[in-house]
Parts: sequence; C-alpha cells; structure tokens
Amino acid sequence: METHRLPAAPSPAERAAVDALLGPPPAPSAGADGGPERSAGGRPRRARERRRLLLPALHAVQDAVGWISAGALGYVCERLPVPPAEAYGVAASYALLSTRERPPRVAHLCDDIVCRGTGADALAAGVERALSEGGEGEAAWEPSPCLGLCERAPAAFLRIAGGGDRVLAPARAADVAAALRGGEGDGGPAPAAVAAPQTAPPRADGLRLLARAGLADPSSLDDYRAHGGYEALRAALELGPERMIRELEDSRLLGRGGAAFPAGRKWRDVAHAASPVRYVVCNADESEPGAFKDRVLMEHDPFALVEALTIAGVTTGAERGYLYLRREYPHAAARLASAIAQAGARGLLGADVLGSGRRFEVEIRRGAGAYVCGEETALFNSIEGRRGEPRSKPPWPTQAGLFGRPTLVHNVETLANIPRIALEGGAAFAAGGDGDSTGTKLFCLAGAVARPGAYETPFGATVRELIALAGGVPGGGEPAAVLLGGAAGAFVPPDRLGLPLTFGGAREAGLPLGAGAVTVFGADDDVPGAVRRIAAFFRDESCGQCVPCRIGTVRQEEALHRLATGTGDDAAELALLGDVGRAMTDASICGLGQTAASAVRSAIGLGLLGPPGGGRAEREGSAP
Ligand code: SF4
Repeated sequence: METHRLPAAPSPAERAAVDALLGPPPAPSAGADGGPERSAGGRPRRARERRRLLLPALHAVQDAVGWISAGALGYVCERLPVPPAEAYGVAASYALLSTRERPPRVAHLCDDIVCRGTGADALAAGVERALSEGGEGEAAWEPSPCLGLCERAPAAFLRIAGGGDRVLAPARAADVAAALRGGEGDGGPAPAAVAAPQTAPPRADGLRLLARAGLADPSSLDDYRAHGGYEALRAALELGPERMIRELEDSRLLGRGGAAFPAGRKWRDVAHAASPVRYVVCNADESEPGAFKDRVLMEHDPFALVEALTIAGVTTGAERGYLYLRREYPHAAARLASAIAQAGARGLLGADVLGSGRRFEVEIRRGAGAYVCGEETALFNSIEGRRGEPRSKPPWPTQAGLFGRPTLVHNVETLANIPRIALEGGAAFAAGGDGDSTGTKLFCLAGAVARPGAYETPFGATVRELIALAGGVPGGGEPAAVLLGGAAGAFVPPDRLGLPLTFGGAREAGLPLGAGAVTVFGADDDVPGAVRRIAAFFRDESCGQCVPCRIGTVRQEEALHRLATGTGDDAAELALLGDVGRAMTDASICGLGQTAASAVRSAIGLGLLGPPGGGRAEREGSAP
C-alpha cells in the first residue's frame, strides 16, 4: 500500500489520543517505516484489520482536541496505515468530524422539521447572543439536522473536547451557553427522567416492545432478568438454529427499517451461507428527521437489544456483532456499553454464551453524522473505515456484506421483536397482527400534538388515532398537515387520515411506514418552510456518488427556493421539480436518492406549498 507522510506533526494531545486507542507505537527498531503495523509477514491482512479502526481513531482525535489537524491525520495514517488522501476523504465525509480548526466546544442546534416549529430559531439567536456577550472564543454553535430528540424539541447536542458529549432537550439558550462555557457534566438529564408518554404511569395495555420501558432499571442486568430478560436467549438455544429460524419464518416478521423484507429469509440465508465467517449488525443509526423510537428502545431497554443480537448471532453462526450507533445518542451509547459489559461479565456474551459452547461478542461502533450511513451497505463501509457510500446491490448483504462476508443486518425495532418470537413462538406472534403486518409498531409522534413521544400500537391504527393517542392537536381541530415517514416520507392526504396503517395498506396509498415518524403541523406552522428544509437536508446528505441524486437534490432545493421567493416562473419550476424528482426516484442507486423527492412531490400534490405565484405575490406585496 502506497502511503505518503503528511509533513505536519501531531501535537502531544493528538498523539496521546491516538495511542490511547491503538496502543503505544512500535519501537523504531521494529521497522524502517513504522514497525510491525506495516512490517513484512502478513502485512496485507494486518493492514486490512487495522483499517477498520480508522473511524474510531478519527473520533479519538476529534474528541480530544475538537478537530482533526493535518498532523493528527498524518499520525493516524502512519499508525494504521491508510493513505492520507483516503483518510482525509473519510474524515471530510462526516458532519461531526472537522478537518478545519474550530473551537473545542461546539453546540449543534437542531433546525430540522420538528425543532424549527418549536423555537429553534429563537434558541440559535439566544445562544449566539449569549456567546458574543460573554466574549467566548472557545465555543461556537452550528445548525444541525434532526438530533432524534423530537419529543423534547428544541434540541441541542454539545461536543466538548476532552469532556464528552451532552444533549440538552428541551434546550434553553442560557443552559446551552452555560454548558459551553463550563464544559463539565455527564450528559444532561437522565433519560429515565424524561420517559416517553407510553412508558410513564398509567401505562397503556398491550405494550410489547415497550413492555419494560419505565419499569425495569435499564442499568441493571439483575432487574432486566427479574422482568423476564434472557429467558428468550435460553429458549432460542434450546430450540436450536433450525427451529429458531422456522419460528421466525412463522412469525412473518417484516423488517422495520423501510424495505419490509421478511426477517426469517435473511436469517436462513446467513445461517446457511458457505462462509464460516459471518456477522450480525444492528443498524442503530436512526437519522430520519422526526424519528426517535430506536433511541427510546435503547435508552429504556438496552439489555433487550443485546439479548436479541445474541440470539441472532448464535442462530446464524455469527461470532461477532456490530452495533452501529449514531453519535448523537450519548445516553443510549452509555446504556448499551454498560449492558454489553454486564452481559459479558455474566457469561451472556463471550466465548461460551450461557454455557452453550457458542461464541458471540458485540462491539459498538459510533457513527459521525452521516444520514446515508443508515443505508446498510454504506454502514458496512463506515465500519470498514471507508467513506459511507452505498454499494450497488447485488450482492446482497446476506451474500457479501460486512468485510465481504454474509451479514445479517436489522434495525433496532426489528431486533426488539426477536425475544418475544423466541419465547412465544412464531405462530403466536403472527396471530397478533393485521394481514401481512404481524406484531406491533412504534410510532414517533412529534410537532403539533399535546403529548409528543414514542407510541406502540397494533398494526392497523390510523393516523388520526395516533394523533389522538398523543393528545391531539393543541387547541383541537384537524392538523394542517401530517408528514408520515420523515424526510423520506410523504404528506398524508386529509382523506387518508383514517387509513389503517399496515405495511400493505400504506404501500397501496403510497405512504411509507418504516421510520414510524408522524410529524404533525398545526395551523401556525410553516409547512412550505419545512418542505424546503427537507430539500436542504437531502442536498446536504447526498453522498454524491451518483449523478441524479448529487445534482437532483441541489436542483430541487434551488427550485423550491425560487418558488418561495417568486424569483422564477412558477409553472416552469413545478415542471422542473417533477422532472428532477422522477430522475432521482428512477435512477438513484440507493434509498436516499430514490426518496429525496417523495415529500416534495406529495406537498405539491396537496397544495401545501401555497397557491401558484404565492411566492411572487408575497414578494411584490412586501415591496416598498
Ligand atoms: Fe449517494 Fe445519493 Fe447515489 Fe445514494 S442515491 S449513492 S446517497 S448519491
């Protein structure tokens, strides 16, 4: 591998951060250009193995000093080794890594579709004022896409170099500024203190996925077991792989990540793959604007996710699992790390899971602010130390996924169903469903509702019922608009608010269920502005790998801006939006580009952008 050293040297703090992760550097005598990490004798394999540490190494530097200098990047490249150009390409592709110098304390203030309706602008203005009045040169703020804290909007995510991450939600300007100045603390209010509505007494009946949330102590393995935890793993081991897979097939569980693919088929394909090395991956990179249900599950019931991953591992024959978690979820990270450590200490993970003779280990990998990494193959690339760019499919992940090996990948909500299927059997699970939609579904109610939060319902609940479950629109009446499925979703036509939400029903109506985000807009909310924010989101998040998406997301955002300001011909702009949307939907290689026009298209169809010429009328009306 050809590497070129960068001329700059790392600072002592940068060097220490990298060494803390990778261990001390090899002695100079071990090799002329870097020692055993690049020495002869198994060099290529070793290099590949170390490449996977690139993102953790970049995180280590960013966490320690607040940005990644050329000297730090060069030192990371020497240690792994990775060509500097490639490492720079990786670092530059993540929003939460900075290759430009910036203050060590940064607040990322959400200005996405929910927070912008709950005071995001005022929060940003207040933080700006407080920082400038305080003469604070060591702190800054930046706008951020959705932080997954929509039930407590407006939200802030703070990164303090040397001091860890914090979230503040709902965030007040004075608190954000104080936290930026102080830099101390351990992450803000504990999640148990801000339970989602359905997890707080009086609890709703029939909760399955949220059954333990708010009841069992999420930091205690003993309490988890006292509430039925790890009985499912024992049951799965007794069933054995073939029976467990058959139960899963009988359950007719469909993936909750968006594609609604039968989970049992994935498990069978991986379990029967020829390769002896396989992986299971939990996609916890929940980044869809308006979605936060996976965070609620991870914060309130982390052991259940670890148990589900373990069942997946011992059933498919994978000995290693990765849990890819978005960086913006520090509470979930702490809860999951503790759960994994406790499970390992008690023989529930490791070389001999529950005395079965089967090995399974779980490693948490933290994302760095890239929505596209929620796409499964982009996520694999991210873990492997490459840019988070989706791969062409086939081959499918079950054939050649992480590190080119058969890989079972599920999101958090899908995995949360596994323990129940192992315990009750597939037929019992399927009996509780509605047509092709078995089990229950989590929905994230946010925006103009009285009690925003994560709600679990049987399949078949209507949007109207979900809004009622969350207390209805404040002040009563109908919502001005409802966006289902987040930025990649669609606005629900008013005559579809009574549509039973099943996979089949939603598909027929052209509405996506996957992310479970139900964002409600009231009469005073700026729906056209939210649509433009969605377009800007896709413009920012496109990985740029394929032309329709790279160019189309930019053109879409520009056309919406011209419509809003009346600086173009409305009919021509609408025609352009139609053409661009069709090109992105038909010719993009991954779901990001394929859905980037969905919300815009539905908003136009429902007249949510205002009447034709509205922007022009507004501009002319306000002219002096
Ligand atoms: Fe990247 Fe967009 Fe192409 Fe997906 S569709 S690979 S995000 S450019």
